[in-house]
Amino acid sequence: MNFTEEQINRYARHILLPEVGGNGQAQLLKSKVLVVGAGGLGSPLILYLAAAGVGKIGVIDDDLVDLSNLQRQIVHHTGDISRPKVESAAESILAINPDVKVEKFMKRLNASNAMQIIAGYDLVADGSDNFSTRFLVNDACYFAKKPLVSAAILRFDAQLATYRPSSGINESDPGPCYRCVFREPPPPGQVPSCAEAGVLGAMCGMAGSFQATEVIKELLNVGESLDGSFLVFDGLSAEIRKIKVNRDPDCPLCGERPSIKDLSIHE
Ligand SMILES: [Zn+2]
Repeated sequence: MNFTEEQINRYARHILLPEVGGNGQAQLLKSKVLVVGAGGLGSPLILYLAAAGVGKIGVIDDDLVDLSNLQRQIVHHTGDISRPKVESAAESILAINPDVKVEKFMKRLNASNAMQIIAGYDLVADGSDNFSTRFLVNDACYFAKKPLVSAAILRFDAQLATYRPSSGINESDPGPCYRCVFREPPPPGQVPSCAEAGVLGAMCGMAGSFQATEVIKELLNVGESLDGSFLVFDGLSAEIRKIKVNRDPDCPLCGERPSIKDLSIHE
């Protein structure tokens, strides 16, 4: 691909990196990433993917911007209150980088639309704030054979992992899926939400930026994939742990005798 003078200038610091270079930057410009949730994690994720020149960014979120979001959801601004988050996020993306095409989905991902929406993307980054969406995204990515970079956050704690049990990076020894680690959603009320327990805004920035780094590594196939690993951040003790996770042969989705054959379980 031939870069314009403006693109060479814009992406100069990427092009200098041997792991990216001109070819990697061209690859980013051809890549399509779906971001689930334009909230605390989605905000830094969307902003860094846009700045990096990821060619197409899909944003799915059915919510409106609320004043209480602005403590951490830095893709939205005070003037955006009451506007759809997808509108405000799309505006921020284009303000940073007009090279990027944005696809807005002002809806919730559900069992009937997930496969069709995900099909248009190379990779899915999940920054959603609830277990039902996280399990749905995992199952849909497995059936669609798309890599998934998933993050979650609460209080001062964050978790990050990449799942590609069916996307072909390692056909003979596929890694785990989200269900191999967390079999099914916890009973309602057992794990509090950020709205119930709080979350430090800057922790969202750290986890979402880390998630953007992992997305870019997957798109460029550089470095060590988090496929098969689980990163746990403890903001209060400033500790990060990387835990190995294995595929569970009894996983109801990607195991040897799967009981989940399609997304109807989510209907
Ligand atoms: Zn599994």
